[in-house]
Amino acid sequence: MISISQFSPKLLQWFESHHRPMPWKGEKNPYLIWLSEIILQQTRVEQGLPYFERFASNYPTVKDLADAPADDIMKMWEGLGYYSRARNLHATAKHIAYQLKGIFPTTYKEILTLKGVGPYTAAAIASFAYDLPHAVVDGNVYRVLSRVFGIQTAIDSTEGKKEFNQLASELINPQRAADYNQAIMDFGATQCTPKSPNCAICPFKKGCIAFNEKRINELPFKSKKIKKTERFLNYFVFNFNNETWISKRTEKDIWQNLYEFPLIETTKTFDLIDIQSSEKWFEMFPKGTKFTISKISKPYKQVLTHRKIIATFVEITIYDELNHFVLKKIPKKDIQEYAFPKVISQYLQDKSLYLELF
Ligand code: SF4
Repeated sequence: MISISQFSPKLLQWFESHHRPMPWKGEKNPYLIWLSEIILQQTRVEQGLPYFERFASNYPTVKDLADAPADDIMKMWEGLGYYSRARNLHATAKHIAYQLKGIFPTTYKEILTLKGVGPYTAAAIASFAYDLPHAVVDGNVYRVLSRVFGIQTAIDSTEGKKEFNQLASELINPQRAADYNQAIMDFGATQCTPKSPNCAICPFKKGCIAFNEKRINELPFKSKKIKKTERFLNYFVFNFNNETWISKRTEKDIWQNLYEFPLIETTKTFDLIDIQSSEKWFEMFPKGTKFTISKISKPYKQVLTHRKIIATFVEITIYDELNHFVLKKIPKKDIQEYAFPKVISQYLQDKSLYLELF
């Protein structure tokens, strides 16, 4: 069994030779650290890296980000998912640039009050920017600590969260808070991975309870599995004189502020006959509208944290202007300028691959 005092030195020793080079490592500018941490929430480093580079070079200061148009930020975020992060990023940049006069908060408590910043991100910013001894606790940390110390308490329970937070704050080396936090993140991401941890060359092997008791697959323990609800989104891609209609999702729902095609949502798999008898269909196609359905796509799927999206695209040529639409009419060639959710981007990508962008 590893003792609390042995953990940090071993981890930091491992870090000396295994740390991952990343552009924000060693960075002390809290704005850039915050930017990288928001991008990396629920995102792999390899995926987040080009986004960080684009944001940092287009918006080198918090004021640049605050003054950017919301649509530009959403477009730059396109493909990264969890779009509430982009909205919070913008709101927080405005808050710092104008309410806080461009001065980034300097204490853990103040950082935690920023929109989109939870305890993990606040601890990361506080330690990386100001060397404050706040331990990060995320999926990587739960995994490493539960395995090394053989902790069975469910990580999704209040009790578990308390226990892991307590242990993490005892383990952090207050003199090297930034290195310690970076080390445990890197260790969880590259050495003690979820499916195939590299135990053979692990510095904790001798005392690691999960390894020695062959319980690696059981830890960390979760009490419940998230049940995903299915949503069936049926999109209508209109073609009228090389123009089409799109609209911005403004409601408090998935994909707020992203664009989409006219939509009829149903509770089951795409069925054109059912859709054609729905009220929404008659709203979309008032009596007398002349149109031809030219193609119905395969179903496109996207899995979100709590939902599974199944999207079908119906391509329709119309012969008269749809004057009753309050949606935005755009030239089809400009479609790439708008930020769409991943399922729609995939559909558009497939279309251009086959050189049939409408
Ligand atoms: S021995 Fe294996 S399970 Fe234990 S900490 Fe190391 S990599 Fe993780």
